[in-house]
Amino acid sequence: MRITSIEWQKVFVPYANPNVWGGGRRFGPTRLVVTAHTDVGLVGYGETLCLLQFTEPVLVRTIIPIAIGLDPHDVEHLYRKVEGAGFYHHKRAMVFALAAVEMACWDLVGKAAGAPLHKLWGGKYRERIEMIAYLFVSDPEKVAAEARHYVDRGFRTIKLKTGVDERSDVPIAKAVREAVGPDIRNRADVNGAWTPGTAKRMISRLAPFDLEYVEQPLVHDDLLGHAQLRRWSPVPIALDESAYTTADVLNIIRAEAADVILLDPHEAGGLWQARKAASICEAAGIPVTLHSGGELGCSTAAYLHLAWSTPNMFLAIDGQQHNQADDVVPIPRCSATTTAVSWSPVARGSACLWTRPNLPATRPKRFAKRIWTCNGPNGSPKNPLIDRRPQRSVGPHEVRCGRTT
Ligand SMILES: [Mg+2]
Repeated sequence: MRITSIEWQKVFVPYANPNVWGGGRRFGPTRLVVTAHTDVGLVGYGETLCLLQFTEPVLVRTIIPIAIGLDPHDVEHLYRKVEGAGFYHHKRAMVFALAAVEMACWDLVGKAAGAPLHKLWGGKYRERIEMIAYLFVSDPEKVAAEARHYVDRGFRTIKLKTGVDERSDVPIAKAVREAVGPDIRNRADVNGAWTPGTAKRMISRLAPFDLEYVEQPLVHDDLLGHAQLRRWSPVPIALDESAYTTADVLNIIRAEAADVILLDPHEAGGLWQARKAASICEAAGIPVTLHSGGELGCSTAAYLHLAWSTPNMFLAIDGQQHNQADDVVPIPRCSATTTAVSWSPVARGSACLWTRPNLPATRPKRFAKRIWTCNGPNGSPKNPLIDRRPQRSVGPHEVRCGRTT
C-alpha cells in the first residue's frame, strides 16, 4: 500500500463561549484535516492543530512531498525523514503538520488490518475514558454556575483556566469548589503565566481548594524552575507546553520537574510518538493525560484509542467538544481510525467506546455555513471539500502580552 495523494482542508469551528486563558482569548480552534489516498483504494483521515500560520505551508511544502509514495505503515520512517528535512531548526513547526499525515497513516493501517487502533497498540486496557469539562475565566458566580452545570451533566473532572488575573483566580477557585462539592476533581491550568515567586504565592492561596494539580505554572522551557517548585509545592505539578516530543518528556523526567505530564500527538509529531512518550512516563511511574487544542472528530477518535490502550493514561483527558459549535464528522458516530465512537457520551464527560472494524470510510462532511474553510491547490471545482467563499488564514484570536509578576 502506498500513499498516492493528500488533500487538506483548513477548518475553523467557533466556540460556544470564547476561551479566555493566560495567553489571551480564542474564539475557536483552527484545524487542518487531511485526506490521504492510496493505490489500493483505502482513504485515511488525519487532523492537526493549526494555531499559527506556518503549519499549512510546512504541511504542503515539506510533509506531503515526503509522504507521497510512502507505505503508511512506515510511520517511523516518515518521522525521521521529516527530521532530516529540518526538524532540528523548526521542531515546533514540524510536529503539527507531521501529525496530521501521521494520523492519516494510522487510519490507513487500521483500515488495512480491519482492526481498531487500540488493538494494534496493546489492546483495550480500560472500558471507559473520562473527559474533562473546561471552565474559562469570567466572574466567579458565572464560572461556578457553569461548573455546576457540567457536573449535573455527568462530568467528574473540571479544568479551570488560571493565571489571567490573580485577584480573580482565588475567588473563582473558591466559588467553583463550593459549587461542585468535595468529590469533583478540579485542575488549574496556568499556561506558563506565573513567575516562580508568583507561583509560590498563588499555589499557597489555591491549595485549600483541593486542586488535582497545577498545570504549567511557569514558562515552558524552565524545567529547573518547575523542579524547584515541585519540591516545595503542596499541589502536584503537571507539565503541558514543556512536553512536546519524546526528548522533551525524557528531559522533564530527568529534571524531576513534573508529577503529571500532558501529551498531545499533534505536538509530539504523531500518535506513535505520543504512545512512546507515554511509555517513557510509565517506566518512570508518572501518569499522563492528553492536552486539548480543540480536537474535532478525527483527532477525538484517535485520542480515545490512545486513552483506551495506554495503561498510565488513567486521568481524565482534556477535550473541548462540549464547547464547540460543530464538527467535521457525522454526529453521533465517526469512522475515523476505523472505530465507531458514540458521540453523545463524550459530551457528558465520559466516552464508552464500542468497535466495529471495517466501517465504510466516512468522509468529513461539508461544513455548516457559519464555519469557514479554505483548501489547498489539490482541489478541483468538483471536489466537495473545497469551499470557494472568501478565505482567512487562521481563526481569530486575541493575544495577551506580558506575564504576571
Ligand atoms: Mg495546558
